[in-house]
Amino acid sequence: MDGSSPTAHSILSEVFGFDGFRPMQADIVTAVAAGTDVLAILPTGGGKSLCFQLPALMRPGLTVVISPLIALMRDQVRALKEAGVSAGALTSANTEDENAEVFDALYKGDLKLLYMAPERLAAGGTDRMLAHAGVTLLAVDEAHCVSQWGHDFRPDYLRIGALRRALDVPLAAFTATADAETRDEIAARLFGGDEPTVFLGGFDRPNIHLAFAAKDKPREQILSFAAARKGQSGIVYCGTRAKTETLAKAMCDAGHSALAYHGGMEPDARREVERRFQTDDDLVVVATIAFGMGIDKPDIRWVAHADLPKSIEAYYQEIGRAGRDGAPAETLTLFGTDDIRFRRMQIDEGLAPPERRMADHGRLNALLGLAEAHQCRRLNLLSYFGEKPEPCGRCDLCDTPPETFDGTEAVRKALSAILRTGEMFGAGHLTDILVGNQTDKVRQRGHDDLPTFGVGKDLDRRMWGAVFRQMMGQDLVRPDPERHGGLRMTDAARPILRAEASITLRKDTMKPERRPAAKTLVSDEDAPLLSALKAKRRALAENARVPAYVIFNDR
Ligand code: ADP
Ligand code: MG
Ligand code: ZN
Repeated sequence: MDGSSPTAHSILSEVFGFDGFRPMQADIVTAVAAGTDVLAILPTGGGKSLCFQLPALMRPGLTVVISPLIALMRDQVRALKEAGVSAGALTSANTEDENAEVFDALYKGDLKLLYMAPERLAAGGTDRMLAHAGVTLLAVDEAHCVSQWGHDFRPDYLRIGALRRALDVPLAAFTATADAETRDEIAARLFGGDEPTVFLGGFDRPNIHLAFAAKDKPREQILSFAAARKGQSGIVYCGTRAKTETLAKAMCDAGHSALAYHGGMEPDARREVERRFQTDDDLVVVATIAFGMGIDKPDIRWVAHADLPKSIEAYYQEIGRAGRDGAPAETLTLFGTDDIRFRRMQIDEGLAPPERRMADHGRLNALLGLAEAHQCRRLNLLSYFGEKPEPCGRCDLCDTPPETFDGTEAVRKALSAILRTGEMFGAGHLTDILVGNQTDKVRQRGHDDLPTFGVGKDLDRRMWGAVFRQMMGQDLVRPDPERHGGLRMTDAARPILRAEASITLRKDTMKPERRPAAKTLVSDEDAPLLSALKAKRRALAENARVPAYVIFNDR
């Protein structure tokens, strides 16, 4: 026995048609059914819905479910009704008939689950309606939406705490993403001073193979990854809307069935892509992060990132969409110096308060640490979430341990080049100085007279690229938004500069090859986004209300 009552088991099989509970479900169901305040963090696909749906059927009265997406609500209500459960949703997409049906069931008192969008809580009359509806349990799905600085913040989630106090009923909150800090924030905002019982489910998704690669020829890297998986459902995440379109076209040219998806498309067109993804079994969707939360397809076989995600949480959530059915799934995440610079600038150019920016840099650092890891990715990823696993044997680094070298000397040379040029230049120009490359820019600035000119001839351009990338990844240097992204040394680099610490770097495993010299700081595709960002920032400076990061959600 797993501690849950026989009633829970019989409802599980008779209503939901499942043979047994998934890990943690039984304990959570028991606690929620008993009226305990619960905060449950279970990975995507872990089966969180059941953890409030089943207790709702064990308790008398009505369970109100706050959920952020109409599509999610509708799916769940439909499934519940098919299982013979009296459930309804009040959403802005309801027809009058649907509303009438919900209110009818409410007044009769036989509604068991009522789904509501958070916006509904702000609507007049909702408080009174709920006060008289016989609510005995509040469930909050996607509870991280209450976290103001997360990427899914929904202001109306902040009303839930007051609703709980007004109704004086137990609250059960569910989410897949929450590091310790976010967990505390969720608990404080939803439960006030009360301490919920926290269930922290395993974050490991053992069927998902993890892999990262430094950007080399990014389009070819993505195309060849996809080519090896032709005919399977997959998602390619891109950092910009423009890239989704060009890459989707390249995928089609390469013989895939592929469609672009981003927040700038017409709602109808977006729904059509969602529909086809759900029904086709070989479609590749090339998307921004706008393609996400509502997608509930069990057999996505692979997820690739053509650009680095914004944080370790975002990474986990995005790769987590693959392999929900438990069968093997593959992932590949590309990253390069442009990505690091872009993500840093997004944070710095946003209007979040300083302490939040620091936290965001920290979450990006955690992802960069994962990207540049020397051993097992899964171990690295899961330890971020507080787990202590063994090396997994199912990631690129377990498959092929990377070669490393003592990078202390190289890093010191690079730091010296940065400091001697006034912390104003990017990796390309600094590399020219280090390898002794007489470009026009080098000559015009007199950088060929520096003592560091040519001291890095022992490494080729590609290796220097890897050195700078890893220095950025380890946050030894940061692009300075005030200086067009020129690299600035951070305090973390001082011990190395003073020869008080050494540093181990990865060798890049790819074969050496000439790269075009010094690139522009921002790739063409990113330029519109960054200038939109700057315009937004200026507008916001005058009317500082909405945090600037909202535009990155690309909803
Ligand atoms: P989450 O919200 O945690 O991402 P869901 O509640 O959407 O997960 O559940 C994911 C899938 O797992 C759904 O298809 C659901 O029907 C299925 N599922 C949930 N619990 C069980 C169970 N005990 N046995 C089998 N399948 C389950
Ligand atoms: Mg869910
Ligand atoms: Zn591993």
